Amino acid sequence: MVKNYNKETICIRGGYTPNDGDPISAPLIQSTTYKYADPDLLADLFNLKAEGHIYTRISNPTNEYFEKKLSKLEGGVGAVATSSGQSAILLAVLNICKAGDNIISSSSLYGGTFNLFNVTLRNLGINTTFISKDASEEEILSLIDDKTKLIYGETIGNPGLDILDFEKYSRICKKSGIAFVVDNTLPSPYLCNPFQFGANIVVHSTSKYIDGHAVALGGAIVDGGNFNWNNGRYSELVEPDPSYHGIRYYDTFKELAYITKLRVSMLRDLGNTMSPFNAFLSDLGLETLHLRMAKHSENALAIAKFLQNHEKVNWVSYPYLESQGDFENAKKYLSKGAGGVLTFGIKGGIKEAKKFIKALKLVDLATHLGFTKTSVLHPGSTTHSQLTEKEQIECGVRPDLIRVSVGIENVEDLISDFDQALGKSN
Ligand SMILES: *Cc1c(COP(=O)(O)O)cnc(C)c1O
Repeated sequence: MVKNYNKETICIRGGYTPNDGDPISAPLIQSTTYKYADPDLLADLFNLKAEGHIYTRISNPTNEYFEKKLSKLEGGVGAVATSSGQSAILLAVLNICKAGDNIISSSSLYGGTFNLFNVTLRNLGINTTFISKDASEEEILSLIDDKTKLIYGETIGNPGLDILDFEKYSRICKKSGIAFVVDNTLPSPYLCNPFQFGANIVVHSTSKYIDGHAVALGGAIVDGGNFNWNNGRYSELVEPDPSYHGIRYYDTFKELAYITKLRVSMLRDLGNTMSPFNAFLSDLGLETLHLRMAKHSENALAIAKFLQNHEKVNWVSYPYLESQGDFENAKKYLSKGAGGVLTFGIKGGIKEAKKFIKALKLVDLATHLGFTKTSVLHPGSTTHSQLTEKEQIECGVRPDLIRVSVGIENVEDLISDFDQALGKSN
């Protein structure tokens, strides 16, 4: 593909271009290793002087089709697929942070990311300062020192559902020469492209909408190629890398410096690569991403409106409801739809919430989100239960909150299931 096609076309044809006689669909290359006849060519591959696959921990053809398509969909210069969303976030940070460095993060985060930043990274000597939604630009700027390496946020907070203030964050990042890293899992690259709004690195849990069918765990890092790493803050990308016989990533790879280092040092050393089979499934998932995201968004808005008018419902949160504080930002950053996740609280609190969940007949109780089937979850007693109550509130988890991942079934069937189950509570 040479031309700049629209997203729907990229979803289907973006990563793999068959030649005469090749498989029409991106094939699964289930191999750890690749054969070569010429030792000099293999030496060049190891020295990053030629392009090709050496070993699947570092790269694989099926992973490459998937990575290319995802990178195009985000408008980036390159991507690396990983074994999970968690590993994508970990590598995105470790690629530029070492013990003694620090990062700044929005506090409205996925529970797993919160624990990673708050506990595990601290144990490795990387400190995170969490900032609330209403922190002012001056406050955030005052937290930055010469060891601050990145600012982190989620496009749509999971499960707080607040919309990242891209303008504020990107202004701060530009002013201080700090990389802006965004988790774009909830909108998927179909509904939002953070690079258009000043992000420099995008991470995904591809386990969610990108796979879309709850069958393949995975993650990805996409590089926007739009950040100057040579500004005095990122010696690991500019100075010689002793673990790669003194290679200088910035000099050698220019706008591909970050993503190249991530592949050849992070994947090489830590090994959290996506399996080719999961890359195959995730790539297949991307073929219908545009259709699914439109339907997820349409169903979720209809259910949010239904719940908003239901007498047993205390409150509803969905970015496309006009009553929401973030409605203006939702329209600005998510012009095609707000995705499939909504939250609500039932009158009578957690006790009634549990009754409601038990009474559902069609909709499942499941920890996952972002797939074809509708499911519900009570984050306070599950995904966010390892957090203190104060931390839960900071992450946007009220005690009575029920999270709904709206699927792409018939919306009338979904609404009637919610209706009958709400009838059983109180
Ligand atoms: C699920 C999720 C993750 C973690 O991804 P896994 O693939 O489960 O490791 C990270 N961020 C967000 C926003 C998520 O929803």
